[in-house]
Amino acid sequence: MKKSTWDTVPVVEVRLPTCPTCGELKYIGIKGWRDADGGRTSRRVCKRCGQLYIVLSLPDCGSDDLGVW
Ligand SMILES: [Zn+2]
Repeated sequence: MKKSTWDTVPVVEVRLPTCPTCGELKYIGIKGWRDADGGRTSRRVCKRCGQLYIVLSLPDCGSDDLGVW
């Protein structure tokens, strides 16, 4: 196996889900559930503009919010 250094490894970017209207990160969680395929669905209300939106986390993401380990 080839040895890697941190200077040469690939970078994978993830970002937290934000409001699709104004980009706000803060939200009020209304309801969340685990889907049959292992993913998660959550309903949210933006704390800044009040936009309702749904966040789908794919099964291989490992947690509800990307970036939370
Ligand atoms: Zn918003």
